Amino acid sequence: MKNILNNNSREELIQAAIEARSRAYAPYSNYSVGAALLTSTGKIFTGVNIENAAYPTTICAERVAVFKAVSEGECKFTAIAVVTLNGGSPCGSCRQVLAEFGLETRVLIADAQGQIVQEVSVADLLPGAFRPEHLKDDSRSG
Ligand SMILES: [Zn+2]
Repeated sequence: MKNILNNNSREELIQAAIEARSRAYAPYSNYSVGAALLTSTGKIFTGVNIENAAYPTTICAERVAVFKAVSEGECKFTAIAVVTLNGGSPCGSCRQVLAEFGLETRVLIADAQGQIVQEVSVADLLPGAFRPEHLKDDSRSG
């Protein structure tokens, strides 16, 4: 099994997300989010939500972390920790982006104190996800 997370790596990942959260740029919502993504090679990429005066251009912490990792050549993920004030869950766009890179990635959702309120897989968060294989020729018939 590639997605075994021990308690130490859980704690490390959540702490990294808590630390990242302090750098969130959320002057409009005041809802700071920190994310920490663990790759299969053991690296951690963090992300924060980055809001904008033109609201729709805002981006979530989870996607920042994923895009940072992918842009550095890392596309295989073991887990992502997401920390908010009250243990808010990843939005639909972030679920879709995570699904692109694997349905088995563990998602640790924690509050500002680092208390895990939910631990699920990406598949749990996005049943019936649209996946890269849907674009292959053999799945287009019919
Ligand atoms: Zn999101």
